[in-house]
Amino acid sequence: MAAGPSSGLQLELDASGSGMDINFSGPLSEQPSFSLSQSGTFVKEDFVINKSGIAAVNGTPVPQLGVRLGDLEMLEILGKGASSLVRKALHRPSSTMLAVKILNVFDKGKRDQLLRELRTLYSNPLPWIVGFHDCLYDEGAMYIVLEYMDGGSLADVLQIVRDTGSGGLSELVLGKLTRHVLEGLNHLHHERHQVHRDMKPGNILLNSSGEVKISDFGLSAELDSTKEMCATFIGTHAYMSPERLSGAPYGFASDIWSLGVTLVECALGEYPYPAYEHGNYFVLLSQIINDPAPSLPEAQFSAEFRDFCAQCLSKDPAQRPSAQQLLAHPFVTMYADERRPFDLAGFVQTVSAMYRPVT
Ligand code: AMP
Repeated sequence: MAAGPSSGLQLELDASGSGMDINFSGPLSEQPSFSLSQSGTFVKEDFVINKSGIAAVNGTPVPQLGVRLGDLEMLEILGKGASSLVRKALHRPSSTMLAVKILNVFDKGKRDQLLRELRTLYSNPLPWIVGFHDCLYDEGAMYIVLEYMDGGSLADVLQIVRDTGSGGLSELVLGKLTRHVLEGLNHLHHERHQVHRDMKPGNILLNSSGEVKISDFGLSAELDSTKEMCATFIGTHAYMSPERLSGAPYGFASDIWSLGVTLVECALGEYPYPAYEHGNYFVLLSQIINDPAPSLPEAQFSAEFRDFCAQCLSKDPAQRPSAQQLLAHPFVTMYADERRPFDLAGFVQTVSAMYRPVT
């Protein structure tokens, strides 16, 4: 490992020996977007990444984590995100299953997403955020190596439960999941001043140990915590808050709305706005912005759960409680493990035994 903060970066870039490093930059007036050396090193903002993994962060060389592409046996596709493909992979030396997210770095939007995702994942491991092993760059593709969550996403689980004809997920299961998701959101919002921006069933992952983790930070952005604003408009729309869809400033409360829609969908077994099913995008936008928020029927769900969803789905973002406040909501506390023990691990194992990979 090189001695000084900048020397490691220099060594990597000089390794081609030809001085023919490629700079992918915009017009001269703009900051270079990223660069690739002939040795196969990707450099963008605070990250230097090569075939052996992340080599430097913030100009400081970091110990490489030791995952090599040649050690990975790529298996079935687990899912497709808006801009990536996720494959299950066997890490042969350790016989460990991993999930590998593959992105093409020649697409600017994807590069920006990659950096956002790495900044969130490349920090201390947390029980509510999907585990990160390494990120490798090879021949135009970036491989983000993640902990494999063998229960798949909440969207996968919901699909399996729907296929059995039993409607949605039980309130008890949702109560258990909600606590974990709120812990993750509270950390993102409170500690990192970061909005996830793409909370939805597909980005909540489960495993057979009963762990629940948030993933896909490609759209998340750090906010000025005083202004709580995002100027940009990216991401999937069905779970977006009314204020965001109408182009107004949005912030942490927007993630809380998305959690509310996610819970209502999982409880009912179907996405609550009818226009979505008919693929009518503009009607969907109009329904989310103008119609009363979706709610849960009184006959099937507890007053606590209905109130929790109603608070998350307040049309006025200022009325939505924070993730921290929601952790103390009776819906969450009444399903706490001490009060309502439940084998979430066993539930996930049963459901994932029915899991069918994406083809
Ligand atoms: P993403 O691009 O992160 O939204 O991932 C797309 C889909 O891939 C998710 O909805 C999951 O079904 C699957 N997936 C993503 N990451 C993992 C993981 N770490 N373990 C298992 N499945 C995953």
